[in-house]
Amino acid sequence: MGKPTGFMEIRRHDRPYAKTAERVTSYREFLKPLSDAELRDQGARCMDCGVPFCHNGCPVNNLIPDWNHLVYREDWRAALEALQSTNNFPEFTGRICPAPCEAACTLNINDDAVAIKTIECAVIDRGWQEGWIAPQPAARPSGKRVAIVGSGPAGLAAAQQLARTGHAVTVYEKHDRIGGLLRYGIPDFKMEKATIDRRVAQLVAEGVIFKTRVHVGHDLALKALVDGHDAVLLAGGAEAPRDLPVPGRDLAGVHFAMDYLTQQNRRVAGDAVPEAGAILAQGKRVVVLGGGDTGSDCIGTANRQGAAGIAQLEILPRPPDQEDKPLVWPYWPNKFRTSSSQEEGCERDFAVVTKGFEGVGGKVARLRAARVDWREGRMIERSGSEFALDADLVLLAMGFVHPVHEGMLSEESLGIGRDARGNVAADTTSYRTSNPKVFAAGDMRRGQSLVVWAIREGRQAARAIDLALTGRTDLPL
Ligand SMILES: Cc1cc2nc3c(=O)[nH]c(=O)nc-3n(C[C@H](O)[C@H](O)[C@H](O)COP(=O)(O)OP(=O)(O)OC[C@H]3O[C@@H](n4cnc5c(N)ncnc54)[C@H](O)[C@@H]3O)c2cc1C
Ligand code: SF4
Repeated sequence: MGKPTGFMEIRRHDRPYAKTAERVTSYREFLKPLSDAELRDQGARCMDCGVPFCHNGCPVNNLIPDWNHLVYREDWRAALEALQSTNNFPEFTGRICPAPCEAACTLNINDDAVAIKTIECAVIDRGWQEGWIAPQPAARPSGKRVAIVGSGPAGLAAAQQLARTGHAVTVYEKHDRIGGLLRYGIPDFKMEKATIDRRVAQLVAEGVIFKTRVHVGHDLALKALVDGHDAVLLAGGAEAPRDLPVPGRDLAGVHFAMDYLTQQNRRVAGDAVPEAGAILAQGKRVVVLGGGDTGSDCIGTANRQGAAGIAQLEILPRPPDQEDKPLVWPYWPNKFRTSSSQEEGCERDFAVVTKGFEGVGGKVARLRAARVDWREGRMIERSGSEFALDADLVLLAMGFVHPVHEGMLSEESLGIGRDARGNVAADTTSYRTSNPKVFAAGDMRRGQSLVVWAIREGRQAARAIDLALTGRTDLPL
C-alpha cells in the first residue's frame, strides 16, 4: 500500500478533456494525461484492500492494487510488468474501457473510486514512450498451426498469446486493415489508430501472419482452414445489427450506425470514400436511435461533421441520476451517464419508440415516434403521445443481435452449433465449439460486449487451444 492515509487526504483527479469547442474541430484524441506528480497522488489513494474488489470487477483481473502501489513508488517499469501480465493491450482499455473496476472499487462505496483507468493508461503509454515494450517471440516453435478468423481485440489477444508460446498463427481478416471494431467502429477521437498499428507491428515481429481482405466463408471456405490447421479460432465479432422494420425504413438517409462510422474512420485514415454512397451529417438534422456507445460515437462524429442538430432517442426510461450503492456495489450500476460525445451537443429523449419514417422524394424528412411507459419489464405505448421529429439523417444504433450467420457459420459439413441467442456455442473453459478443431471467443461467442471482455476471451481461448494441442499449458487463465 502506497500511502496509508492517501485516500483520506487526496481527492480523485481524472484526466481532463480538451474544451468542447476545441475538440470538435478534429478527430484527434482529447484526453489530457496527468503529470507524474498527479499520478503518484492518485496511486496513493489506493487502500490495497485485503479483498480488492477492483481486481474482480475487471474482466482481465488486472493486478490493480499492485500497480497503484508501484506508481505511487514511481517504479514505472515494475508497474508495466504487472499490468502486462494480465492484459495484452492496456492502451486500448486505458482509453475506451468503461472501467467496471472503478465501479467495483471499495472507495466507490462512500467516496470517489481510485482513478484506475487513468493510471493504467499512463503506465502503458510510458512503457511505449520509454521503449520498454519489445516483441517477445517464442523460444522455439511448437510445430502446431493455428488459424484465427477476425482481427478484433479477441483475435489479436489470442494471436499474441499463441504466438508467444510457439504456435504458428495466421489471422484472417475480411477488411483491408487489422483491428475489428477498434479500427472501423470506434472513432479516432476515442482512440487514434496508430495505437493499433504499433501493436500489429509487435505481433508481426512475434511471428503472427496477417492476411487481410480474406472473407472466410466467401473467399475461402472455413473447411479449408480447418483442414489446413491444427486448430481454428473464430473471433469474427457479433456483426448482425438490430434493424427497425417500420414503415419508411427503406428511405434514403436511414442507415445503420456502422455504415456511417466506418466511412468516417476510413476518411480519417486517408481513404477516398466515393461521394455517391457517402453518409455525411453536415448541415443535417440528425436523429440517432439508441443510447449506448455506438449512439454516442455517432453523435461525436456528426458534431465533427457539422450537423445542424442532433437528437438521440432511447427506448428505455431515463436511468436514475444516482445508483442505490448498497444495492448494486460492486457491480456495474444502471445510472444516468453523459458521454463526452453527448456533452459536445445533442438533445436526449427517453422512453420513446420510433413508429416510422416519412420522406420527401424518397429521402427521409421526418420520424414518427410515441412515448412509452415501462411496467414490470413490459413496454406500453402512451395513448395520444405520438409526435414527429424532423430528420434528414437517421442512424440506427440499437446494438447487434448476434454474429452474421450467412457464410462461414453456415458451412454444414463443419456443424458449428449456436446458442439460443444465435451466438456460436462454446463454454468459457474449453472455448470449443461443437466441432472439436474449432474454438470461438469474443463477441462471436458471447454476443455484443466490450473490448476488455474480448481480450479476456482471446487470452483464455488461447490457453484452451494450447492445452488442447500440446496436453499442457503455461499460459495464464
Ligand atoms: C461503434 C462501437 C463503439 C464501441 N465502443 C466501445 C467502447 O468504447 N468500449 C468498449 O469496451 N467496447 C466498445 N464497443 C464494443 C467492442 O468494440 C466490441 O465488444 C469488441 O471489439 C469485440 O471484439 P471482437 O474481437 O470479439 O470482435 P470485433 O472487434 O467485432 O472484430 C471481429 C473482426 O472479425 C472480422 N470478421 C468477421 N467475420 C469474418 C470472416 N468471415 N472472415 C474474415 N474476417 C471476419 C471482422 O471484419 C472484424 O474485423 C463498441 C462497439 C461499437 C460497434
Ligand atoms: S478496490 Fe479500490 S482501494 Fe481497494 S485495492 Fe482496488 S483500487 Fe485500491
